[in-house]
Amino acid sequence: MDYPGNLFVVAAPSGAGKSSLVKALLELDARVQLSVSHTTRSPRGQEKHGRDYFFVSESEFDQMVLADAFVEWANVHKRRYGTSKKAIEDRIAHGADVILEIDWQGALQIKRIFTNAVLVFILPPSWEELRSRLERRGEDAPDVIEMRLENAKMELAQAREFDFVIINELFERALFDLKAIVHAQRLKYTSQRRARADTFQALGI
Ligand code: 5GP
Repeated sequence: MDYPGNLFVVAAPSGAGKSSLVKALLELDARVQLSVSHTTRSPRGQEKHGRDYFFVSESEFDQMVLADAFVEWANVHKRRYGTSKKAIEDRIAHGADVILEIDWQGALQIKRIFTNAVLVFILPPSWEELRSRLERRGEDAPDVIEMRLENAKMELAQAREFDFVIINELFERALFDLKAIVHAQRLKYTSQRRARADTFQALGI
């Protein structure tokens, strides 16, 4: 499917710094909009319904699955998470760039449906750093941290399926890399042809 807006999908194991990078990109670039997912997990810390996630019950999630309301959904850390059609389709159809912050399973499902989607995987610089980021974050109990690290072993291996890889060692460098990917996507022939139709027309091409 070809839409005027771009779809960026960012995946990473928890603790790799995905949310901070995406948040910084959204603050810098008003043309990028975040897709807000639905989840059956409870809110953490300062998280707000409708901003960070739509927090729904298991039965509400079931109803959305039955109503075919999701583009993709997956079980992550024993909870369900899904991207609704509503969160992306209208927006990319109207030319907005939409960014999804989801797990690798969802990312690969998105690529099958939206073949032009740009998949970005964020890697931590090392296992030690990943563990200490999860511990510093202080959001999860020790057994949850162990579970996240265990899952991360398999998750990291999925990076090979992605279009781009960013190693989040220095935040500013990683943000620069993410901006570069977004920028390069907008310079592609089809995007430029659409965005600068007048120039192409004046050039007679
Ligand atoms: P957390 O509970 O830490 O917010 O998220 C856990 C994992 O679920 C993260 O890897 C996050 O990116 C992923 N996730 C969040 N929303 C979605 C979604 O809509 N679909 C999928 N497949 N994964 C998601």
